[in-house]
Formats: sequence, C-alpha cells, structure tokens
Amino acid sequence: MAMILKGSEVVEAINERAMNDIEDLKKQGVEPTLAILRVGEREDDISYEKTATSRAKKIGVAVKNVVLPLDVTEDALINEVLLLNADDAVHGVLMFRPLPEHIDEDKVRNMLAPAKDIDGLTDLSLAGVFAGIDTGFAPCTAAACMEILDYFDIDCKGKNAVVVGRSLVVGKPAAMMLLDRNATVTVAHSRTADLPSVVRQADIVIAAVGRGKMLDAAYFTEGQIVVDVGINFVDDEMCGDVDYAAVEPIVQAITPVPGGVGTVTTSVLIKHVVEAAKRSVK
Ligand code: NAP
Repeated sequence: MAMILKGSEVVEAINERAMNDIEDLKKQGVEPTLAILRVGEREDDISYEKTATSRAKKIGVAVKNVVLPLDVTEDALINEVLLLNADDAVHGVLMFRPLPEHIDEDKVRNMLAPAKDIDGLTDLSLAGVFAGIDTGFAPCTAAACMEILDYFDIDCKGKNAVVVGRSLVVGKPAAMMLLDRNATVTVAHSRTADLPSVVRQADIVIAAVGRGKMLDAAYFTEGQIVVDVGINFVDDEMCGDVDYAAVEPIVQAITPVPGGVGTVTTSVLIKHVVEAAKRSVK
C-alpha cells in the first residue's frame, strides 16, 4: 500500500502561508489582485476561472475578470494585456490558452510583463526557471509538482528522477526544477526507447503525458515516488497518466487523480499572485 500524496494537505499549507502574507500586504495598503483574461466561452476555461476565482477570494485575493469575444483582434487583445501590465492594482495575470487561431499566440503571451506572469507563459519566465532566477514565475503545474515533493519531505538530492513528457508547461520546467533540487534527471518522451525500463529505474517519476492510464504496472517497481500530472477522461471518468489501481499497490507513494497535482496547481497560481504583490512592494 502506497502513501497517498493528497493535494488537499498541500493546499492547506500553501493557503496558510499565503493568508499570513496577505495580512501583511493589506497592512501596507496592498490588496493582492489576480486578473483573469479569457477570450471566448470555452467550457474548460470558464470552469477553471470559476474555481480559481472562488479559491482566490476565499483567502483574500481580489479577482478582476476580463472577457473578450472570440473574434477579438490581435491588436485589441495586446492592448488589453498592456493595460493590465500598466495597472498597478493588478499583480498577476492568468491568460487562457489556446488563443483563437487568427491570433499569434507567441506574440501575445510575450507581451505580458514577466513580473505579472504568474503562470510562466512568457519566454522570460521560462528563461528564469532555466537560469534558477526569479525573472517571472514557473508554470503553476510544474511548480505544483515541487510543492507536493517539498510538503511530503521527499528529498530529491542524488535521486534519479524521470519526467515523462517534455512540454514547456509541465515536463521541461519540472525537469529543471528537479535539477535545481539536485536530482539526476532524465526527460523521456514519445521517442524514448523502452520507456517502461527507463521509468522503472527512477526513484521519482513525474508523469505528464496526456494519455489516460498509459503508465501501468509494467513501468513501476517498489520504493518509487509517483507524481501524476495527467488529467484525462477514460469512459467519462477522470484519470491520470498512471494506472492508479494497478500501480498504487507497488510503489512507495503516489498522487491521486483527481485530488493530486490539479488541486495544488490552483493554489500555486494564487500563491504566485501573492508573491508578485510582495515583489511589487519591495
Ligand atoms: P503535451 O503538451 O501534449 O505533452 C505531452 C508530452 O508527452 C509530450 O512531450 C509527448 O512527447 C509525451 N508523450 C506523448 N505520448 C507519449 C508516449 N506514448 N510515450 C512517451 N511520451 C509521450 O501535454 P502537457 O500540456 O504537458 O500535459 C500533460 C498532461 O498533464 C495532460 O494530461 C494534461 O491534461 C495534464 N495537465 C495537468 C495540469 C494540472 O494542473 N494537473 C496542468 C496542465 C496539464 P513528444 O514531445 O515526443 O511528442
């Protein structure tokens, strides 16, 4: 039986620290504020916006919701980003992607000021993650994986870590953050030869593939720590990239889906807003 690395415990700890910081900031006349910029009416975006808005407000972070129509022009969207950059009352901006096809997403995301880039969208934020400096912020999901390892006192030093997936939002930044924690890191992907044996050699596995239950019992061995980033739907049921029922009895510790990385990600987003507000008064 594995130890279950429950997101709710990590969330509680993050929120407690954030609430103390918010209290200090409010004493200095600063109300940490998150702006959520949404283009169009995608169901996923609206649902995440609702969750993020209510969780932010609950701990004392104000939220400004900006919604633009699906046919918004690139210039109008850039103008909105520049207004948010210039607004001293806004400390962090979450911009949903993908943007509509007629908009150059790379151009727009890089218009965001790194100081307000709380979800690591800009190249400058990512450069900061790679350089180990706080230019902006790490993508929240990669940071959430680290929050989980830190909260449960999982020491990465000298451990073999395998990250399955090399996206800019999860796999690559998570690999850099593990390296920063002195793990020996392997990044695996769709062209990796004999993936099961690569994953079996890891002490710590971060699965960020996007294929429901792909990593089954053949990928794991006893003593491993498994962080499952995947959010997939198989037969209308939410599941991770790891086949939880088959793997949980084998490994030392594992995050559940739902109730693992996803729930911590939203708290990291709010934590980043508070951190951005703290940096703004320094
Ligand atoms: P992505 O951009 O599609 O990247 C998936 C990665 O997995 C790619 O690097 C790909 O390799 C690799 N891959 C795909 N099939 C593979 C296979 N058969 N064997 C080995 N590697 C394979 O996805 P993502 O945005 O990183 O997201 C990954 C998962 O995390 C998804 O389930 C997503 O829903 C979830 N997610 C969760 C959160 C959260 O808050 N919990 C946030 C974001 C994403 P190549 O590079 O070679 O194509």
